[in-house]
Amino acid sequence: MGTLAALLFFASLLAHELAHSLVARAKGIPVEGITLFIFGGMARMRLEAEDARDEFQIAAVGPASSLAIAGLFALVWRLGLVAGWHPAVTVTAGYLGFLNALLAVFNLMPGFPLDGGRVFRALVWRITGDPAKATRWAAAAGRWFGYLLMAFGALQLFGGAVLGGMWLIFIGWFLQNAAGMSLRQYLVRNLLEGVGAREIMTADPDAVPDDLPLQELVDDHFLQMRHHAFPVVAQVRPVGLVTLQHVKQVPRHEWPGKRVRDVMTKAEGITVSPWDSVSRVMEVMQEAGERRVLVVRDDRLVGLISASDVAAWLQHEEELAALRTAAGSG
Ligand SMILES: [Zn+2]
Repeated sequence: MGTLAALLFFASLLAHELAHSLVARAKGIPVEGITLFIFGGMARMRLEAEDARDEFQIAAVGPASSLAIAGLFALVWRLGLVAGWHPAVTVTAGYLGFLNALLAVFNLMPGFPLDGGRVFRALVWRITGDPAKATRWAAAAGRWFGYLLMAFGALQLFGGAVLGGMWLIFIGWFLQNAAGMSLRQYLVRNLLEGVGAREIMTADPDAVPDDLPLQELVDDHFLQMRHHAFPVVAQVRPVGLVTLQHVKQVPRHEWPGKRVRDVMTKAEGITVSPWDSVSRVMEVMQEAGERRVLVVRDDRLVGLISASDVAAWLQHEEELAALRTAAGSG
């Protein structure tokens, strides 16, 4: 009965997360995957909801489906009692009904990143018209809710309920931590959406021709200039990217005989436009498994962006934001 209940509860969790994912997808928000963990799950979405109404619906459908599932199990429990089914069925159904109702209620707590926090965020967003403020409020609520659980857990702990107390402290700690992380994630994502590739790229990077022998690439380029990578052009058209890593994979005695185009990463899949957002740039890097992308406009190379460019820019932006806050103008 325990095993069956555990499996069915996991299935219920999955249904809850699937509900979020389906509504998100219907709103045009791609869902990367669903993670189930010890006291819940998380549908990982790649974008933010576009308006408060979408956010509300995506968040609310989770607890709503948990409540519906709880109702279903309660129905089985009730029918079983009336019809005199085996207690293994009625007890398991009753227990699952209770667990799902608990899941719905817990998730409705108004702290980010719980569903209730997202509902709260949607409401503040709707009222104030300011998603950033709504996120800050919901994250603060999430943090306080986490502290509250921890305090409650500590009380229980000293009252003698050691295991239950520690469990609450753990969940509380996890929640306040997740609230802070969700807020940072939101702020960074916002930052990345609002800035274009052209603003962080290295403009007019040194490029090498595609028919250059590797020996010359090493002698005249890698050893002369302190770059780790060069865009590759055929005439003037960008066709790829060659890195030190590519060269290292070729035995030294083959360097004179091989050309750049034999070892380079092809430009398809690592190209962005100057007007693509930085988050798009990061997406392309992730999908291609490359640390650099070419910025191309009208079939001409205009820039190069490396992962460390993005990181350095982000750090700079964060320091600026901190300065502005310290100056009291932000
Ligand atoms: Zn949920």
